[in-house]
Parts: sequence; structure tokens; C-alpha cells
Amino acid sequence: MEEQVLPRKTAQRIPFCKVQCQGNEGAYVREVLESGWLTTAGKTQLFEERFAETVQARFALAVNSCTAALHLGLEALGIGPGDKVLVPTMTFTASAEVVRYLGADPVFLDVEYGSCQVLVVVHFGGQSAKMLSEGNENGILDICQQRGLRILEDAAHAFPAQCGPRMVGSIGDVTCFSFYANKTITTGEGGMLTTNDESIARRVKVMRLHGIDRDIWRRFTSAGSSWEYDVVAPGYKYNMPDINAAIGLAQLENAWQMRAGRQRCAEFYMDRLAGLPGVDLPRFHVPHKDHAWHLFGIVLTPEAKIGRNHLIELLAERGIGTSVHYKPLHRMTYYRDHYRLDPAGFPEAERIWQGCVSLPIYPALTGDELEYIADALWDILG
Ligand SMILES: *Cc1c(COP(=O)(O)O)cnc(C)c1O
Repeated sequence: MEEQVLPRKTAQRIPFCKVQCQGNEGAYVREVLESGWLTTAGKTQLFEERFAETVQARFALAVNSCTAALHLGLEALGIGPGDKVLVPTMTFTASAEVVRYLGADPVFLDVEYGSCQVLVVVHFGGQSAKMLSEGNENGILDICQQRGLRILEDAAHAFPAQCGPRMVGSIGDVTCFSFYANKTITTGEGGMLTTNDESIARRVKVMRLHGIDRDIWRRFTSAGSSWEYDVVAPGYKYNMPDINAAIGLAQLENAWQMRAGRQRCAEFYMDRLAGLPGVDLPRFHVPHKDHAWHLFGIVLTPEAKIGRNHLIELLAERGIGTSVHYKPLHRMTYYRDHYRLDPAGFPEAERIWQGCVSLPIYPALTGDELEYIADALWDILG
């Protein structure tokens, strides 16, 4: 007797994030390995030049993380002990911890934004914040200029992203990008600081490498007294190695194609999840082509059939990876206790936190996989 083969719904395994390294990453890394010099040199310089060109900034300085870029940016803006820096609560801890590195204090803001020296703007999910004035509505840049506030942009989600006619990276005093493994382009670990301000660029360049007045590469390649260098400040060790920059150069070549792949996912979700009961879809104030599409976050409303944590479990049972952006900083033990923060002071962030789930969004997601995710959401919440 023949065994009956029942049609079985294929179980899928869809991770929350998947890195794409299908370009020249290997070839460029091999060039570095064969060069005999693995840390900061020509590849890093080239990566900086190409990145500056892409975001239309005068200066781009590569470092070993976005956190390092944020730290150096605040230091170059003159933040020190006792200063106050406005930081949104709905972000990753790096946006606030760097304020503490310098002995200054973060003042936490609810989701949309308050006497401080610097405002940290997080371009959440990859969509530029409203930086530029439009019609009667003042942009963040003008509001801050009127109040004498400098701006540090945390653009860890926002490459490549645009705000009106300008690229994120060319707008505020300092912009910081992340090339951590799960960001829109990666170098494994890495970051970039961009600025149009020459004095900030000069300070960052010195402080990212021990407060030495010129970088290693020039120390080893320039003629004359190549052994000589001076230390002008107690700097940090934040330079980007060439191995990482090699990966970054290849990623940069594919940045727009990968962005388009994420846009395809986002547009699919917007279309297929429209009308799903108890779910708020993301809202956009920029055209789709200007969005970096790092995250696609939905928010469950109190009317949803089940709560956020339960939804995450049910999706995981079906092999679908998700994440939460973010458990707000006012709920983290250190900030909550040190600054005596009360969730009641952050109603909008609380509302989002109770229901937020981020869905997979990356170029390798197939139409079938997207359908599978949408079907699962309708099945569970519909
Ligand atoms: C990832 C991230 C960072 C930190 O980036 P690293 O390169 O890992 O230091 C900072 N801010 C936000 C909003 C992030 O998502």
C-alpha cells in the first residue's frame, strides 16, 4: 500500500534581519589582507570620500561605531560636565549614554520634542525628522537656531535618507551613522561622522585617535620626520580599520539597490496590512523614495485581539523573527533610577511602547515570504 503524502504547508524560517554581502566585499577585503596593512589607511580614506560625496557633506570621518561618532560629535560641540542635552526617550541607549561619557546630563523628551545646549535628533526607522521649514511649519533646524541649540543627528537608521532637497548627513551640525551588522549598510562594526563645520571636523579627527595631531597613515607614509607626532588632548581610540572600510566601500556601491529592496517590502506591508484590525501602520511625512526604510514598525492598539508580547510569540512559532524598537530609555533601570523618571511624563512613547513590533525588512525577502508574514498577521489579528 502506498503511503499517502498529505499536502503540508511548508514551515518557513524568516529571520528578523539578514545581511546582504553580494558585491565586492570579498574582493576589497582581500586587497586589504594582501596589502600588509590592516588598520586605518587608504581604504578608510576612500570610504570617507565616497560617503561624504553620497550625503553631500564637506567632511566625513570614519570611526569604529556610531556610538563613537556620537561621543566625538558631542565632545566637538563643547559638551562637558553639568551641561544638558535633549535626548528622545524612544531610542537606543547609545544616543543618551554618550552624554554621560562627558559628565553631562540627558533631558529626556517624549516622542515629538523643550534650556539645553544640544538636541539629539533620532531619524527613527530611516525617515528623516522634520528638519527643514515648510510653509508655515518651522523645521527643527530653524527652531533650534532661534534658541541657540546645536543639533546632533543620530542617523543610525537613516542611510541613505533625504529631507526635502538635502541628504541626511548634510543638514545639522553633526550627523552620526552606524554600520553595525544589522543597519542599512554594514562594516561589521563601524560608524561615520559627517559635518560641514571645519573646526568640528578637525577636533573629531584628533580626538578619534588618541588626541594625536595627525593620523597613523600619514605618520607611516609621509616623508621627513615621520616618527614625530604630538598629543594635544586625552583622545580616544575610535579609528576604523581598513578591513571594515573595505566592506563599507562595497556596501556603499549597493546602498541604493538595497534601499529599493527594503522599499518594496515596506510598500507590500502598507498594501497588505491596510485595514488589519487593532493595528496602526507607520505614518510618513517624506516621499517613499526619501526614506531609508531601516525599520518597519507596526503598533498594536488597545483594540487588538492580543497584546504585543503574545503576538511576538505566535509569530515566532510560525518561524517569523521580529523585534521591538524600542523599550524607551525612561524604562531602563539606569536612566529611570538616576533621573527618577516617571512613565507618566512620556505618554506618546508609552503608547507606542505598549504595542510596537518591528517586522522583517531587507532586500532578500521574497514575495512568498512577505505573503507568509502578511497571512500570519491576518490569521492572528484579523
Ligand atoms: C544602532 C544604533 C546606535 C549605535 O550604533 P553602533 O554603531 O552600534 O554604535 C545608535 N543609535 C541608534 C538609534 C541605533 O539604532
